[in-house]
Amino acid sequence: MDYLPFTRPTFDEETIQGVAEVLRSGWVASGPHVLALERALSEYLGGRPVRTFTSATGALEVALQICGIGPGDEVITPALSFAATPNVILRVGAKPVFVDVELATRNIDLDRAAAAITARTRAIMPVHFAGLPVDMDRLYELARTHGLRVIEDAAHAIGASWRGRRLGSFGDIVAFSFHPNKNMTTIEGGALSVNNEEETKSIEIHRFHGIAKDSDGEMDVVLPGGKYNLSDVAARVGLGQLRHLEAFNAGRRELVARYFEKLRTAPPLMLPARGDEGHGWHMFTPLLPLERLNLTRKAFIGEMDRRGIGVGVHYPALHLFSAYRGLGYREGQFPNAELIGRSTVTLPLFPAMGARDVDRVCDAAAEVICQGGK
Ligand SMILES: *Cc1c(COP(=O)(O)O)cnc(C)c1O
Repeated sequence: MDYLPFTRPTFDEETIQGVAEVLRSGWVASGPHVLALERALSEYLGGRPVRTFTSATGALEVALQICGIGPGDEVITPALSFAATPNVILRVGAKPVFVDVELATRNIDLDRAAAAITARTRAIMPVHFAGLPVDMDRLYELARTHGLRVIEDAAHAIGASWRGRRLGSFGDIVAFSFHPNKNMTTIEGGALSVNNEEETKSIEIHRFHGIAKDSDGEMDVVLPGGKYNLSDVAARVGLGQLRHLEAFNAGRRELVARYFEKLRTAPPLMLPARGDEGHGWHMFTPLLPLERLNLTRKAFIGEMDRRGIGVGVHYPALHLFSAYRGLGYREGQFPNAELIGRSTVTLPLFPAMGARDVDRVCDAAAEVICQGGK
């Protein structure tokens, strides 16, 4: 049987041909395809300005910069995410203030976020974990009450929606990732959805060397900007992906429904919150009941690998990593993030899978867990 990775991108022949055309066109850096992708994403997100980047990491860093967030500022963020989320906060000189997540949703606990607000808090950077939207009503209510910016890390959540509205079609600044593991890809890439033209201008300046042009077209360098512009080759891939995004996400939902059905009884995995039809299902991440098993997570992953199935870990709790411990965090501080970090496993989920693949994963997991049962 073929090896089943935990994720894999799907490219159609038309996109592959389209990339070849871009390569032959003589213009491969940022150009007409980047503009076309930004227009298409904007249309998908209800008309808000959208600007693309070489990664979501770069996009998030620029988002913090255009908000003027830097040394002395605090940004509230979940203790469970990919390292990019707190890294960009540190890179602009601000402090990531970690808050525990809810066990079932893996999303930031908004009561704890409210309790973590100080006079130095400038922004909240929530993560829509695995594509499940954070409670947007409560999030924005909290931000309004305390005058905070919201920079949504929606790296997992392109196509997800809250009460029928797509993430990125409303709110403050919303960042998406187009890494090949995500729900759509530009190979490497990302985007910001913004709610006003003035900040869009500022984003363009920060994205490309700090270069601004005045009304006569005279160029000036107004700040030491970065270099985060997407290539036309990458944008052409993204245009081909966006066309399938709704179908990709529908496929993910169907596979997850199968997982829930199969795993309702055995093996005894702790399933994540189901959400509603707005869930983007970027990943399927149950928890292993480690306290009931004579089996480590590492052994589970190894046994699944031996059966031709790739299993990932998303993610170890952030505050226990060396780069953040120095900020004064310690073990035991965020019990939900730590429990998830210790016991989470990412089972295969990508649109090209079929129901039989889900069954194969569930049968293998049952076998491994049964053998490891106490
Ligand atoms: C993937 C990811 C990022 C970073 O995305 P890149 O495009 O690889 O820079 C940021 N945050 C989260 C939660 C992610 O999963």
